[in-house]
Amino acid sequence: MTILVTGGAGYIGTHTVVELLQGGHEVVVLDSLVNGSREALHRVEGITGKAICFIEGDVRDRALLDELFVEHSIEAVIHFAGLKAVGESIEKPLAYYDVNVHGSLVLCQAMAAAGVHRMVFSSSATVYGEDAPVPYMETMLRGRTSNPYGSSKAMVEQMLSDLCCADKRWMVTLLRYFNPIGAHISGEIGEDPQGIPNNLMPFIAQVAVGRRRELAIFGDDYPTHDGTCVRDYLHVMDLAAGHVAALSSLQHAGVRIYNLGTGHGISVLEMVNTFERVTGQTVPFRIAPRRDGDLAAFWADAGKAERELGWRAERGLEAMLHDTWRWQEQNPRGYVPG
Ligand code: NAD
Ligand code: UDP
Repeated sequence: MTILVTGGAGYIGTHTVVELLQGGHEVVVLDSLVNGSREALHRVEGITGKAICFIEGDVRDRALLDELFVEHSIEAVIHFAGLKAVGESIEKPLAYYDVNVHGSLVLCQAMAAAGVHRMVFSSSATVYGEDAPVPYMETMLRGRTSNPYGSSKAMVEQMLSDLCCADKRWMVTLLRYFNPIGAHISGEIGEDPQGIPNNLMPFIAQVAVGRRRELAIFGDDYPTHDGTCVRDYLHVMDLAAGHVAALSSLQHAGVRIYNLGTGHGISVLEMVNTFERVTGQTVPFRIAPRRDGDLAAFWADAGKAERELGWRAERGLEAMLHDTWRWQEQNPRGYVPG
């Protein structure tokens, strides 16, 4: 199949493009490069030995999308393009609704006009909201989101569900990711946040490589076994494989929802300790106040994806940390050489 991958030059997108190319698909990437990199796509071509058709542009640009759908025989879309920083979304809500919600709307309109009705959408565990019991299950209703980023994901989920109700040609899978970390085993591609990392894993890796002095652990007084927050971390290559599985199963009208996680929770302190043990690096840290909006603990019930997609997360925490470190050590400044 020829797949349009929006946001394909970003972290999860590049790893998914590797899986798609190795699975025999043709790939067209549309990315504005606001948080992605051309170099990452060159490296994907190096890893796979295959060419990527790359279009630099914005997912909100309807004329560009129309042209793209005329020029390429796209059969399905994996829609990653979006803004993802929770804190920034609180400061700039309109930017988040514009890119994430309006961008998805324009994309759907262009797909409809082109007669393309298959989509895999990047959603997030955040849509379960603040009060959901763990483990999170797909049968639970979406909850009250605590920031514009989460609200934008919930809105797009609703929009896609409404679309599938109204028009039986649409086949949509909503993938609710938990916490992707790790990198391709080659160390050639990985997570390369611009500026100060918001997420735990890239922050730990940048402390270990000497780019940052110490990690601030946001709170050690949560009601968890060691007081630090618990999350369900999964390997980005497992997540990438989940997209290929979701794509193959896009054969029936309507919307389907899957959690992509391991089903196991790990605390922040366990992450730091395991990283140190696995890599032999030291990660100085201090305990800092809680971060606004953080939930104490959540993880996935990952059973539905296994039953229906035949997908499960295969790689363990040690592999995730080894692969993160290989990427960071080989690329101390990310995709910027030197
Ligand atoms: P990323 O920022 O690395 O990738 C997103 C890509 O989209 C970037 O390459 C960026 O340049 C591109 N982009 C942004 N706005 C665009 C626009 N208007 N037009 C075209 N391209 C645009 O992020 P990621 O971690 O790879 O996340 C991919 C998707 O998965 C996002 O939708 C994100 O919200 C979702 N998600 C991520 C996580 C996570 O922890 N990384 C968790 C849950 C959901
Ligand atoms: N975290 C931390 N220090 C950091 C970044 C994150 O202690 O510099 C904690 C954060 O409070 C949360 C966990 O690590 O409990 C995972 O945070 P991340 O931002 O990676 O994921 P999310 O909060 O989106 O689940």
